Amino acid sequence: MIKKFIRKILGVKNDRDPTEPVILGPEEHKIDPKNVSANAVRVTQTLQEAGYKAFVVGGAVRDLLLGVKPKDFDIATDATPEQVKRLFRRAFIIGRRFQIVHVMFGQDLLEVTTFRGNGSDNAPKDEHGRVLRDNSFGPQHEDAARRDFTINAMYYDPATQSVLDYHGGIEDIRAKTLRIIGMPEARYREDPVRMLRVVRFAAKLGFTIEPTTRAPIPVMAPLIDNVPAARVFDEMLKLLLSGHALACLKELRSAGLHHGLLPLLDVVLEQPIGMKFVTLALESTDGRVKAGKGVSPGFLFASLLWHQVLEKWNAYRAAGESPIPALHLAADDVLETQTDNLALQRRIATDMRDIWAMQPRFERRTGRAPYKLLEHPRFRAGYDFLLLRCASGELPAEIGEWWTEFYDAEGGERERLVAAANTREREGGGPAKKRRPRRGPRKSNGEGAPATQGAGGGEE
Ligand code: ATP
Ligand code: MG
Repeated sequence: MIKKFIRKILGVKNDRDPTEPVILGPEEHKIDPKNVSANAVRVTQTLQEAGYKAFVVGGAVRDLLLGVKPKDFDIATDATPEQVKRLFRRAFIIGRRFQIVHVMFGQDLLEVTTFRGNGSDNAPKDEHGRVLRDNSFGPQHEDAARRDFTINAMYYDPATQSVLDYHGGIEDIRAKTLRIIGMPEARYREDPVRMLRVVRFAAKLGFTIEPTTRAPIPVMAPLIDNVPAARVFDEMLKLLLSGHALACLKELRSAGLHHGLLPLLDVVLEQPIGMKFVTLALESTDGRVKAGKGVSPGFLFASLLWHQVLEKWNAYRAAGESPIPALHLAADDVLETQTDNLALQRRIATDMRDIWAMQPRFERRTGRAPYKLLEHPRFRAGYDFLLLRCASGELPAEIGEWWTEFYDAEGGERERLVAAANTREREGGGPAKKRRPRRGPRKSNGEGAPATQGAGGGEE
């Protein structure tokens, strides 16, 4: 009776005892055992044979229930990290504050975590209520209650093929609902990154955020400012590399999470002028992720911030700087604000600068210049970036087409292309491939994007 009352005031929807799981068999959950990695089975089996509990947990179970092959498998157990380590030949305890074990099989890495207890009431917190450290072990039902969303809090035992569900995750999976476990405000306060996670899952899975889970987000969004920048950056990267970046950004906006939260997002979402470019960049990123191709974070962030760079570049040039130094000054400005706020790693920032700095060079198609550019170690990224600029209407499509031909061409053909470009240049028609007399500056056919014609064309 009292338990029931407490659950009622905690907003627990049904009368289920959250310390007792609902257990589903294979004919109910319909998980295809073929989607379970052999190494995950190996780990759970080894732990179970040593007398411990062991389950696949979290995102992997969610994906299995959705019929998707999980990209990685996390294991939860009641064995301590030391006990886990002893059972495997290549196992490493990592993390100082909360230890987890990395078990390796060849290239495959599995994360094994000991059930965490709900010590978070006494855990040290910052002045905003964010939990700083929380290291206690506990029973399985407490581990379940500490997870973020109901659909992420289920356990799968490969040996018995059963799913353990403490929080109605199965129903929420079926209803395509994202529901936070416990009191939403309290859970976001403990860890504001959960607000970004719910948005990412909603966009990625095509799920709806349940109203009480969603309601506090716009109000609590500023709490993300207190989260260490590196952690926000990691989450942003996950979001942008989820294969659903565009949907994620729209969702962030509609959840009220974009404002004043991440300088990057403010810039991206509140400048319609760069929106076409960003949309194209994210579409192409999403396409690559879905096709299993690699995406470089440097390219991604270079795209997201390009229009900010462009604006400053134009401003420096208008103030009398010559184009190349002006571009570097603009890049400095943009990188400086973003590295402060977003903890852009140095390596990523270097890639971004390379990609930007290459851009004026694409407008020089005479003499040896195009050959030199082709040898640039990051040519491919710079060229892909150029194509986005053309596709968004910032530059004439013809420049991109010329480079595509030049890139694909064999020796003699390249000479011919450069010669053709030289001729156009001499005739004063600008670097055009087809004979089309041009008068005056070429017009950008974009949506008002600042034109950069002549930015690099011709100058040394
Ligand atoms: P993805 O497909 O993105 O990997 P995931 O659910 O596996 O999704 P992870 O970040 O790998 O996400 O986390 C694994 C599990 O750990 C989650 O499913 C969830 O149960 C738990 N978890 C992760 N982050 C949090 C958090 N901030 N608060 C509470 N639980 C979390
Ligand atoms: Mg995961």
